[in-house]
Amino acid sequence: MLIVMHRDATVSEIDAVIDYLNERGHEAVRLPGANRTAIGVINNASAVSNDYVLRMPGVVDVIRVTGRQKYSSREFYPEPTVVRVGDVAISQAHDPIIIAGPCSVESEAQIHAVAETLVDCGIQIMRGGLFKPRTSPYDFQGLGLAGMKTFQIARDQYNLKLCAEIVSTDDIDFYESEIDIIQVGARNMQNFELLKSLSRMETPVLLKRGMSATVEEWLSAAEYLMVDGKRNIILCERGIRTFETSTRNTLDLNSVAYVRQRTHLPVIVDPSHASGRHELVTPLAAAAIAVGADGLLVEVHPDPSKALSDQNQQLRPHEFRALTQHVHELTNIRFNREADVISV
Ligand code: PEP
Ligand code: MN
Repeated sequence: MLIVMHRDATVSEIDAVIDYLNERGHEAVRLPGANRTAIGVINNASAVSNDYVLRMPGVVDVIRVTGRQKYSSREFYPEPTVVRVGDVAISQAHDPIIIAGPCSVESEAQIHAVAETLVDCGIQIMRGGLFKPRTSPYDFQGLGLAGMKTFQIARDQYNLKLCAEIVSTDDIDFYESEIDIIQVGARNMQNFELLKSLSRMETPVLLKRGMSATVEEWLSAAEYLMVDGKRNIILCERGIRTFETSTRNTLDLNSVAYVRQRTHLPVIVDPSHASGRHELVTPLAAAAIAVGADGLLVEVHPDPSKALSDQNQQLRPHEFRALTQHVHELTNIRFNREADVISV
């Protein structure tokens, strides 16, 4: 339930509504907006008299919030959430961002090569897997925390922010101090103990959609992160399992358009894991930007044929450069900007 207060409502009128709700065992949250305050009611299982609340001084409207999502919903927070990572702002109101890097952190030479490509393309956030949740235990599992020394080169020598996937609550303190965006992978989207622990951290969380998760389940996972007040969450659509086998997954662009309507959180797209095929990554990235995605997560490797994981979907540096140029052009179109003048 959402109670909308009059734009001139006084503090004591707002407090009176909150007291009324609290006395009846509800959790009322003050939601200050640009023009007026609203009050969100969580756990409104027992009846609150709508008529009574409507007649309280300063109250304009009482709205039933549909669905189980509260903190992630636009009904509670109409303004887009801006997730800040250093100088980079990620939100539904900013230019789409690109987070890019190798599937796995492998070697110093690899990190140097990718970092140079990113800096050259104006990218500010590098991704890299330290722990790899692989289908088979016989496949490369990642360098683990030991890989951080290598990954850190990107921050220390190239001034890049770092994004890496966490797989265990044991590593939370380490990630909180070393990583700028903590990724929750598709396989852990419903690892509720991990989500609850991350909800207490300040570092932004990138929450991937589970490969068989509905949008409702995905948003409910975000709700786990937000229920104690965390706001800096980025949602990431990375393809879902369908009957189609010609691509690794099926990129669900419906979900991107839909989730952007439902939530104030930024929503980005990972065309690399969605398709599993490098030649499809740029067209899918373009489609994602066209549908309104607030950014992309893209795998890049200096020599994908030697990659220790996801060889077939990582872009070569020149392919990645072309992708960034294309995204730049589409961003200009989205915001009705003049195309850059190219001198010949
Ligand atoms: C990844 O981004 O490295 C990854 C493993 O992706 P997903 O969790 O989407 O499979
Ligand atoms: Mn990968």
